[in-house]
Parts: sequence; structure tokens; C-alpha cells
Amino acid sequence: MKRVALFGGTFDPIHRGHVFIAERAQARCGLDEVVFLPCRQSPHKVGEALSSGADRLAMVRLAIAEYGWATVSEWELQRDGASYSWQTAAHWRKEVLSEGDALFWILGHDQWAALARWARIDFLATLVEFIVFPREGEVPEAQEGIRGTFLPDAMPVSATEIRTRTRGGLSIEEMVPEGVADYIAQKRLYERA
Ligand code: ATP
Repeated sequence: MKRVALFGGTFDPIHRGHVFIAERAQARCGLDEVVFLPCRQSPHKVGEALSSGADRLAMVRLAIAEYGWATVSEWELQRDGASYSWQTAAHWRKEVLSEGDALFWILGHDQWAALARWARIDFLATLVEFIVFPREGEVPEAQEGIRGTFLPDAMPVSATEIRTRTRGGLSIEEMVPEGVADYIAQKRLYERA
């Protein structure tokens, strides 16, 4: 029986906060695998410019290379249109996992608080147990009918802050994993609004 967590996001770019919560989830919940899932286009961020899937994927690969339990999947990137978590979770349950395997979904407080707006949340909640982290000082609370494990670990970093700092010519080395800052500099990502 495997314990697998899906970790969806825009990862534009992946940062130390992402890697930190994945690592804490893995250790505290005894996960065999954490699957990073860069989305093609977030249903929550329609209309916002996004770096290419290839760049976001490359940065995730650089960030997780040293962790044996971490993998990245192009499944959402290769699908047309917006990525819906319920479709991804249903695919994992049906096509990837075996019966009896446990499936989790990792997220931060901002997304946990917005779950009511996610498509088919009731169905998704039957497929996964959420692993939830605080963010920006906000501590997640239980929601009826949705299984959640609440972990206390926090690291205050956001991709928005990284993009803003890069645009302003400020250092981001402390906020992104090794290799990712170099990639951003080399590709000149986030230099313009
Ligand atoms: P942006 O600033 O562009 O909105 P982001 O930093 O929130 O980006 P995403 O890729 O959108 O990054 O986040 C993917 C998932 O990771 C979401 O569930 C989000 O809540 C969670 N997450 C991101 N950063 C943190 C953090 N520092 N602490 C806890 N959860 C986080």
C-alpha cells in the first residue's frame, strides 16, 4: 500500500516554501511519493500571464532533484485548457494507484480557504485527504465533509514576491532552491511586468 500526495500549483516559479511544505508533508505523513503537478492554466488565475510550461517544469525539476521521494508530472501541462484538481485526482486513483493506496493533496491556507470555489469539491474530497499548511499567519480550520490533516510548519515565501523582487532587480537567492535563481537569471524571467 502506497501513500502518495499530489501537489498542484502554478510554480511560477517554484520556491523554498513549496519544497519546505512538501518535505514536511512527506516526513510527517509518511508519504512514499510527492508528485509536483505544474498546471497548464490555473482556473483561479485565468487572464494572468504565466511563464511557459517548459520553464516552470524545468524549475521544478531543478528544485526537487535531490529528493528521492519527489517526482514531477506533466499530466496537467499536457491537457487542453484549465486544470481541474478533481480530474487529476480521479486519473491518479483510476490509472496510477492500486486499490488500497492512500491519496493526499497538499495545499496552503489560501487554497484551503478557497476550496468552496473549486470545481466538484465534494467529489474531490472523496478522492483525497488534504494536507494543509498555514500561510501568512493564517491558520487553517477544519471544514465539514472535507478530510484534512493540519500541519503547523510555515515558511513565508510567495511566487508573487519573487516575481516582484526580480522585476525590481533585487536578490531572490534566499527564496528559491539552488539552481532556480540561476535559471531565472539565465532565461531573464520576470524582468518585465
Ligand atoms: P503566487 O504568489 O503566484 O500566487 P504561490 O506562491 O501561491 O504563487 P502556487 O504555485 O500558486 O504558489 O502555490 C501552489 C500551492 O502551494 C498552493 O496550494 C499554495 O497555497 C501553496 N503554497 C505556496 N507557497 C506556500 C507557502 N509559503 N506556505 C504554504 N503553502 C504555500
